[in-house]
Amino acid sequence: MARIDRIAEPWGTRTPYGPGEAWPVRVDTFLADGLTEDDVDRWVTSATILHSNGDGLDIAVKDGRIVGVRGRAEDRVNHGRLDPKDLYGWQANNSPDRLTRPLVRRDGELVETDWDTAMDAVAGRCRELLDEQGPSAVGFYTTGQLFLEEYYTLGLIAHGGIRTNHVDGNTRLCTATAAAALKETFGCDGQPGSYTDVDSADVIALFGHNVAETQSVLWARVLDRLAGPHPPRIVCVDPRETAVARAATVHLAPRPGTNVVLMNALLHEIVANGWVDRAYVDAHTVGFDELEERLRDYPPEVAEQVCDVPAAQVREAARVLGSAQRLLSTVLQGFYQSHQATAAAVQVNNLNLVRGMLGKPGCGILQMNGQPTAENTREAGADGDLAGFRNWSNDAQVADLARVWNLDPFDIPHHSPPTHAMQMFRHAEEGSLRFLYVTATNPAVSLPELGRIRSILAQERLFLVVQDLFLTETAQLADVVLPAATWGEKTGTFTNVDRTVHLSEKAVDPPGEARSDLDILIDLARRLDLRDKDGAPLVKWSDPEGAFEGWKECSRGRPCDYSGLSYARLRERNGIQWPVTEDAPEGTERLYVDGRFYAQPDYCESYGRDMVTGAPLDDVEYKALNPDGKAVLKAAEYLPPHELPGQEFPFQLITGRTLYHFHTRTKTGRAPQLRAAAPEVWLEMAASDAADRGWGEGDLLEVTTPRGRVEARLRISGIRPGVLFLPFHYGWWDDPDALERGRAANELTPTDWDPVSKQPIFKTAAAAVARLAASDGVPSRAPTTTASRPVVADVPPTRGGDVALVTEREGTR
Ligand code: SF4
Repeated sequence: MARIDRIAEPWGTRTPYGPGEAWPVRVDTFLADGLTEDDVDRWVTSATILHSNGDGLDIAVKDGRIVGVRGRAEDRVNHGRLDPKDLYGWQANNSPDRLTRPLVRRDGELVETDWDTAMDAVAGRCRELLDEQGPSAVGFYTTGQLFLEEYYTLGLIAHGGIRTNHVDGNTRLCTATAAAALKETFGCDGQPGSYTDVDSADVIALFGHNVAETQSVLWARVLDRLAGPHPPRIVCVDPRETAVARAATVHLAPRPGTNVVLMNALLHEIVANGWVDRAYVDAHTVGFDELEERLRDYPPEVAEQVCDVPAAQVREAARVLGSAQRLLSTVLQGFYQSHQATAAAVQVNNLNLVRGMLGKPGCGILQMNGQPTAENTREAGADGDLAGFRNWSNDAQVADLARVWNLDPFDIPHHSPPTHAMQMFRHAEEGSLRFLYVTATNPAVSLPELGRIRSILAQERLFLVVQDLFLTETAQLADVVLPAATWGEKTGTFTNVDRTVHLSEKAVDPPGEARSDLDILIDLARRLDLRDKDGAPLVKWSDPEGAFEGWKECSRGRPCDYSGLSYARLRERNGIQWPVTEDAPEGTERLYVDGRFYAQPDYCESYGRDMVTGAPLDDVEYKALNPDGKAVLKAAEYLPPHELPGQEFPFQLITGRTLYHFHTRTKTGRAPQLRAAAPEVWLEMAASDAADRGWGEGDLLEVTTPRGRVEARLRISGIRPGVLFLPFHYGWWDDPDALERGRAANELTPTDWDPVSKQPIFKTAAAAVARLAASDGVPSRAPTTTASRPVVADVPPTRGGDVALVTEREGTR
């Protein structure tokens, strides 16, 4: 047993293992106030909620309060390990500034009220607008942090009850491209791979995926492979010198906005050198000839010119990828939040397909998620797609959903693609959308071009409802604020990136009058008197288990089939990968093992889109392209980003995250250890750029783009020259002056999105930077343990100290 400062050592102690072996167990525990495990009254089963990895954990309860967490040794995802955000983040549940009563706006001020008054105001305004303007006046903007049962209920209310097409989640900012890339290639969302692929891969390629900070337990698994016999080779694509880059066999650091060129050049080399599995390609894919034709234009010398990556390095990376026996590829925000997001992410799918590396141990694709329940937002239809990965442009599938919901098919909007978040905010700006119901997300800090977003949210004519734990920057602008219960205070299921479903049980009561999101949504449906076609209540359940049973029926026969699961089953064995059916009662480790896909024209979730315009294809076009439902190899040409650096704005600005915070810090900013680890925004710049200007570590800088300004202290890091990095976590709830001063990275980002996935572009803004003051020897407060590691100055290392000591216990399952 060891006691480790997990702020200083985020990935903990190594437990090495070799290819094909089981990942050793290491159970991480953190308890408050010097408590020991003997002091805990009870342990309640759950999983992690501050990233997408889906690690199994138990919540420690004492005297009716959460007092700590412990990783679950038997969980298939983490084998007992926990991320620093989980180890310390639970303290936010006990924060004294939790919302405990509903608030309504009176004479410009938010004042406390009772639930009846608040809900009548919400339902009343919604009904008024439905009567006056119809369903298109109403929109829902949700999150990747509720539970499956809540998303399913929300999707039913919005699509089936209110009948609006304006439903989306903040997953649009995060994983919309994961879904889009999977739909383009496989006809359907759903991750093909499994985390167990890490155990046997001989090459792991990470494309714009700083897994060390976004899914730190998965990175611990990779680190343990790297420390064991026959370690895998790592290919890393990232403009920053992340922990992944430092461990990589080959690190490619392309110019932001050029991922398509880099991917095409890698594929060019794979094809030119004959590293293609022709038998697999011929049997299981369509589109190879077009792909091969397109790749002719992208030899490594083109990548050298456009991406500014040496052609020899591209060839070296291609050789590693081309010689892999078992290739695991993963993708995240470096691709998803970039220019041509889907086109680039699809090329990663192409890589594994042309190499025939799918459906076997060690051979997988993980188009990653960022949030813990993002997968559920998508599968349950709270991101605008229809529930159960149903195709909005396939009438038979819409009719099938109408059967499940006992509605007429025409009651479910499917005349056009679902309205994506960026478009919903435009509708609100233009005045056709008058009612916006926001659950568990903070668009006033997380959406691009914040000056514009604030003015949209603050409009008098927009009725804004915010359901959250705290008075966030968005809630401060609301007409009604509804206090919500959170993880640990309610029961429900959620599903991680590799399709593992966990049941999270209620451990303690929520504070004050706060209620679960599910309760509030059911209350809303009742007050709106939403009914099915026989006049029965539309929402037919009153608790999480009832909602889960409803969802099971909705998912039956669809790719994300939960019909073989139940709460009882999850209580026996938590952590089962969908699909779970009568035929596969133990779940499904990998999709597409037999080279068959969910891509048949009558079954697929999507007919695909044009890679340049984003226009949806119709069934006739799709049937002509892919009559037998094979995987589609989609080629893409490179198009330059819309905003390029120039004389006035000479840098490229990218935004991103740090290991210690999640989103806009509503939770992690209230956990003392996490807050202290990364207390303030910083700006990263390469040593050569800083030296050219005579600037030093900790200097106070002003970053500007055509949209706004931010003040931040300089961290000279291993980032690519010509590129600046700002973490996007910092708003102004904990520092009201920060709004005036400029602290949120999204003051600077543009209103622009990928044409296919509609994911906003956070990685290619043109920016200028100036110095406001010298540091006087005080460094920036950026963490030293992560990608923001300093490269020039003598900066004190980031430490958590005694208050951050975590017990690590190695053992067996
Ligand atoms: S921090 Fe980024 S990757 Fe993580 S959930 Fe948020 S948007 Fe997604």
